[in-house]
Formats: sequence, C-alpha cells, structure tokens
Amino acid sequence: MKAEIQLALIALSINAGLAGADGKTAKDTRTPAQRSSLLWLSAQLVHKHMIKRVRGHNEVSSKACPSFDARKDELGRLV
Ligand SMILES: [Zn+2]
Repeated sequence: MKAEIQLALIALSINAGLAGADGKTAKDTRTPAQRSSLLWLSAQLVHKHMIKRVRGHNEVSSKACPSFDARKDELGRLV
C-alpha cells in the first residue's frame, strides 16, 4: 500500500517586518541571521515535502506580510 499525503500549506513566521515612527509600517527588517535561518528552514521543508511553490502571505491575501516580495527573494528561487 502506498500512502500519499498532500499538504495544502506550511506557514512560517518570523518576528520582523515592521518599522517607521509608528512601528506599523511594513518594511523588510530581517536580520542576516533571520534571513539565513528562514532560507535554511524553507529549503528543508521544500525538499522534505516536495513543495512546488513558496509564496508570501501578501500574494494570497490582502496583507502586508511578510513585507517583501517572496517571488523576488531568495525564498522564491528555492523551487
Ligand atoms: Zn501574514
């Protein structure tokens, strides 16, 4: 018997993405450590679960997060 699992979504979140005097303006504020950690974890998940697309929340919803365009980021080049 062959089991097949299809995942619809894996969501990752980091504590970054807001700046400005009000602290509420969307801006890519990831530290180098956050960038490399997020890229490493995403690559592991892409490989393990044969993920076909990496998207930002802002591509599928009217949200500002993750405050950068995942398609133009190194995350978007994982697949
Ligand atoms: Zn979000």
